[in-house]
Order: sequence, then C-alpha cells, then structure tokens
Amino acid sequence: MEQDGKKEKTLVIIKPDGIQRSLVGELIKRYERSGLKLVGLKMFVPTDAFIEQHYSLDPDWKMKAGEKAIAAYDKKGIAPPSREPLEVGEKVLRNLKKYLSSGPVVTMVWQGMHAVEIVRKITGGTEPLTSDVGTIRGDLTIDSYAVADTGDRAVRNLIHASGSHEEAQKEIPLWFKAEELINYRLLNESILYDVNLGGILE
Ligand code: ATP
Ligand code: MG
Repeated sequence: MEQDGKKEKTLVIIKPDGIQRSLVGELIKRYERSGLKLVGLKMFVPTDAFIEQHYSLDPDWKMKAGEKAIAAYDKKGIAPPSREPLEVGEKVLRNLKKYLSSGPVVTMVWQGMHAVEIVRKITGGTEPLTSDVGTIRGDLTIDSYAVADTGDRAVRNLIHASGSHEEAQKEIPLWFKAEELINYRLLNESILYDVNLGGILE
C-alpha cells in the first residue's frame, strides 16, 4: 500500500457490454456511493494490441485465469474444456481481445482507503452465475464460463477491476497519463477520514 492509504488507487473499466446495456450511470453510482473518489475518467475504443498489453502486465495472468476457470468447472462437477491452465488462459486472452475491442469502454481511476479491495468487493467474482448477490456482476448480468465456452467467447461480466495493489500500479499508467489524474479535495473525505467530527453542529 502507498504510504498514505487514502491515496490508494485502482483501475476500473466498464467493458463494452456495460455501455451497450446502458448501465454506465448505474455502475459509476455503485462505486461513487461507497465514498471512494473518482480521480480519472475517459471513454475510448481500445485496440486488440492494447488489450493484449494490458493482460500481459502480469506474466502469470494466463496461468491464473486458466486455473480459476478449471476450478470453477470442477466445483460444479462439469468437465473443463481442457485440463491445461495455460491452454485455457491462451483461449481466454484471444476472446478477451475480441470482447474488449468491440466498442467503446469507459475507464476510471478510483481513489481512497482500501480502494482495490473495496472495488473488487463491489464488483463481485469473475463469473456472474456464481458472483454474490449485491455485487455488480451478481446483480446486473447473467453469464457463465460454460455458456461463454460454448460460444467460444469471453465471459461478459461488465467490469474490469484491478485484482491487487501491484496490478493497479501497473495498469493505471498504461491507461492514464499522469496529467489525466486529478488531485482534488472531496468534501466527503473529512467525514470518512477525520479523527474528530468537529464542525458539524453550529
Ligand atoms: P477482470 O480482470 O476483468 O476484472 P477478473 O480479475 O475477475 O476480471 P480474470 O481472471 O482477470 O478475472 O479474467 C479477466 C476476464 O477474462 C474476466 O473478467 C472475463 O471477462 C474473462 N474470462 C476469464 N476467465 C474466462 C474463461 N474461462 N472463459 C471466458 N472468459 C473468461
Ligand atoms: Mg483480473
């Protein structure tokens, strides 16, 4: 964590399905009402190569994504398409490039205490079928690994959110120039962070 915990930052991307489902306002609202501060925001159509770059920031990502999918199949007692995590991960990346470059995305940087974990909690688990009720992926969409695999496509789960502080620190500079992130004071912050709640009563 950065020295000043209140400045912890995380990257959120509203994927093309979020925009096509007219959920941009709802999705921003879910993060905004947590108390985190929006410090960067833009919309554009990423290229295939840019998405590859994003998922290559973590050299182990393919392996981990493959292992996660195989474990989800095993938990449901369904045979995975392959037992080789790298093979599954490779296919996921190919389909993700198609998915995320198919239209505009909205990218954001959220800042505040525990930003990475709070955003992951609000977002929910990767697979909408099994992500918790109350989370974005659990409430607002319905995809599963099995259905995505049948269609040879990525799981459509509305959001990308940095998975750890290290991931956030690599992802944010890829998506935002330093000058695109705004340093400003939000009045809410004194209620969230100040030791004493002075100055409320007149
Ligand atoms: P994100 O990184 O997008 O926030 P995540 O960290 O929950 O999601 P990752 O394992 O990093 O999940 O996978 C990245 C994205 O790839 C997922 O959000 C999903 O869209 C897609 N994906 C992951 N695994 C599979 C799979 N087995 N089949 C199809 N799509 C997948
Ligand atoms: Mg991830």
